[in-house]
Amino acid sequence: MANKSVGLSDPLYQYLLTNSVRESPLLAELREETSALPGAGMQITPEQGQFMALLVRLTGARRIVEIGVFTGYSALAMALALPEDGQLVACDIDPDWTAIAQRYWTRAGVANRIELRLGPALQTLDALLASGEAGHFDLAFIDADKTAYDGYYEHCLELLRPGGLILIDNVLWGGRVADATHSDPDTIAIRALNAKIRDDQRVSCSLVPIADGLMLALKHA
Ligand code: SAM
Ligand code: CA
Repeated sequence: MANKSVGLSDPLYQYLLTNSVRESPLLAELREETSALPGAGMQITPEQGQFMALLVRLTGARRIVEIGVFTGYSALAMALALPEDGQLVACDIDPDWTAIAQRYWTRAGVANRIELRLGPALQTLDALLASGEAGHFDLAFIDADKTAYDGYYEHCLELLRPGGLILIDNVLWGGRVADATHSDPDTIAIRALNAKIRDDQRVSCSLVPIADGLMLALKHA
């Protein structure tokens, strides 16, 4: 297969970081503090944060919904790219991890742009829809429990305006999506959603092999 993506050896990945990533001191500090936590591997990578911030600017997004906050890196990266009056609704269930997130959002001066909703994300998304928010969001980032990805995708499609963009993280799932020896619920859920989006005429899509794979799905009019 000559036309596949270039594989990133360690030196090449280091080159990419050194020659393209401008992680701000506060984002770097959040990465450092998070690295001491058991769940540190859940944090998005710096080049992915920068890519998502670019997508926020590229789409001119003003309202974002994020599902899966952890210690707040992805929310902070995107919120910094929002206009002053932009808003990011951040959904998570964990009060301890998101307390770290809030500390950094405040220090970065973007706490006023981020509304944390603690509770199961499907309930929060239902509540947003019930309060008349359908079609009122520009961008969604899905990065929480993988078995609920399909539900998050469907809710986000409703919340987005036509032309809105959904980002779905970990769609390559460490390679397990392409390895038939893996049939755990997370892998099955991600495989099913990838195949569904490929055939979903409601969106245009691209699976970008950055970090653990990021699916971009643009909602059609
Ligand atoms: N985007 C984050 C970042 O950049 O650091 C990483 C998110 S981490 C992979 C997944 C998060 O989803 C965890 O913080 C976890 O508490 C949260 N989560 C798991 N199940 C959830 C649910 N049902 N509703 C809301 N959040 C959930
Ligand atoms: Ca992730």
